[in-house]
Amino acid sequence: MVNTDDTIIKVLYVDDELNNLLSFQAAFRRRFEILIATNATEGLEMLANNDISVIIADQRMPKITGVEFFNTVLQQFPDPIRILLTGYSDINALADAINKGEIFRYIKKPWDQTELQNTIINAHEIYTTRRQLKQKMEELERVNNELNRFVYSTSHDLRSPLANIMGILKMANIDSKPERAPEYFSMIEGCVKKMDLFIHKIIEYYKGIRLENEITEVQFDQLFSDSIEMNHMVNPAIQFSTKVNQDIPFYCDEFRLSLIINNLVSNAVKYQRADEPHPNVQLIANVNEIEARIEIIDNGVGIIEDHLTRIFDIFFRSSDFKNGLGIGLYIVKEALNRLKGKIHVQSEFGKGSHFVLTIPNQAVPKLTE
Ligand code: ADP
Repeated sequence: MVNTDDTIIKVLYVDDELNNLLSFQAAFRRRFEILIATNATEGLEMLANNDISVIIADQRMPKITGVEFFNTVLQQFPDPIRILLTGYSDINALADAINKGEIFRYIKKPWDQTELQNTIINAHEIYTTRRQLKQKMEELERVNNELNRFVYSTSHDLRSPLANIMGILKMANIDSKPERAPEYFSMIEGCVKKMDLFIHKIIEYYKGIRLENEITEVQFDQLFSDSIEMNHMVNPAIQFSTKVNQDIPFYCDEFRLSLIINNLVSNAVKYQRADEPHPNVQLIANVNEIEARIEIIDNGVGIIEDHLTRIFDIFFRSSDFKNGLGIGLYIVKEALNRLKGKIHVQSEFGKGSHFVLTIPNQAVPKLTE
């Protein structure tokens, strides 16, 4: 019942003659997973409860013809590919069914085993390709909608520091005191920094939405020290500590993984409390053959409970603190989806936050002997 690429092909065969059903089962049970039904109702029930890719029906059944059965199937289950078993005398019904798109192929009775087997395999391939295409279309539609929203919101957000700069320049122009120039410069610098950060995040976002993963071996020691190096100057008072248990190789898309860790570490640094005497950030990784469990812990401002489910939404900011952009955790969520990983956050307002991630080890599968 296994195809060459290891996928199971599930075939439903509907026929009122038990002998036909049994001989079909005997002929193909090693090649396909076969479900049989003696009437249309049973057939529909099986379609509702199984992921069937190919349906075969006999044209001559007592209560309903094969074509009529496919007509009903089409309304409720349009995806499985339909093959009709028919004799020569059914040629008119057959032509009609083909023209209306109700069937993919017809097979003359008595069937030729090789022909039927090849037809089922072809039908399954079409089913799989259509399904993949549908998934890609849905994915593209989602990304496209997000992109539209993203472009709209980012252009709006980029205009606000620009408008501030224009205002500051106007004020500076009418101010006659030259000693106030450094004040204006520093205000402009603040706005420019905000724009720069914003553009940096937009670039990260665009790099992150590419569809495919590039799997390489990843060392958590290295990822953590790179991330600390990138972030420690933002607040040199912060003590970083790392703990890595990695005795076996971990395979993953390194760019996406570093994007995730950098965004979490940058937040852990950014959302520290000014009055905390010992600000600290811990980075932990435990790797096994199945997954890596990564923890980023800080003793910063924390997040209020009501916001914990929303912080991963695009442009959501839990507070106005530090001029957040509300993109970082959205980038984390998107990248994590592509890695088939999960994230969980625990946080206590005023005490700190604890992010826990699990990411599958994409180790190259061992060939079975
Ligand atoms: P940004 O930090 O740019 O606002 P994020 O998407 O990275 O955007 O985060 C969303 C919100 O979640 C932030 O505005 C912040 O309020 C909250 N947040 C994220 N990480 C932390 C953290 N480690 N400690 C406290 N608050 C956090």
